[in-house]
Amino acid sequence: AKKLRIDKVLSNIGCGSRAEIKKYCKYGIISVNGKVVNNPGLQVDPENDEIIFDGEKVNYREFVYIMLNKPDGYISATFDRHDPIVLDLIDPSYLVFEPFPVGRLDKDTEGLLVLTNDGQLSHRVLSPKKHVPKTYYAKIEGVVTDEDIVAFEKGVTLDDGYETMPSQLKILKSDEISEIELTIHEGKFHQVKRMFESVDKKVVYLKRLSMGKLKLDENLALGEYRELTEEEIKLIE
Ligand code: URA
Repeated sequence: AKKLRIDKVLSNIGCGSRAEIKKYCKYGIISVNGKVVNNPGLQVDPENDEIIFDGEKVNYREFVYIMLNKPDGYISATFDRHDPIVLDLIDPSYLVFEPFPVGRLDKDTEGLLVLTNDGQLSHRVLSPKKHVPKTYYAKIEGVVTDEDIVAFEKGVTLDDGYETMPSQLKILKSDEISEIELTIHEGKFHQVKRMFESVDKKVVYLKRLSMGKLKLDENLALGEYRELTEEEIKLIE
């Protein structure tokens, strides 16, 4: 297992600066595997040793993977000047690992958003070569028809001239306000909304249901999140 200095581990997760951790070592408020630490340079295995800081067990790991049921009104970014961001929904005990969203949902889109600090995984999932499928549920203003299914399967032309890859449209309800599920294999800006615009219809509600084989946990209310299991992490790619 990877070894790191105890002062580095604790400062990484926001317990204080290296200088402060050195002081805390003198106060005797840090212990590793039941032994009080005096030496801030002590080498520890942060994922396996039991580290106690000021009476609390430190839950250190290299990577975190979070599934969020994103609500309307939040920006999929790590900073925004005006609007609330998805990280505002996440407990500080996770934020010390500096997670960021894997891809973006529009401010008004709800549903599955994965947050992680695993840059390589994020990179692979978002790679345009990979075509990780994403399935959305949507309410559409206008009657969605079998012709739309055919058009989406062939590919449609967006407002900027881009030709979409084949996508799978399922009609759940065909009415003044239709309900559909759509699976796309790429991720252009506002893609689902613009695909419906190309057939003269308007998305009035949009929710992501899945990414790869990873499905949104329906037990999560809007704004709630949980960590992914080891198995679920593998389902994304
Ligand atoms: N397509 C959209 O138009 N918006 C999203 O948020 C996701 C996919």
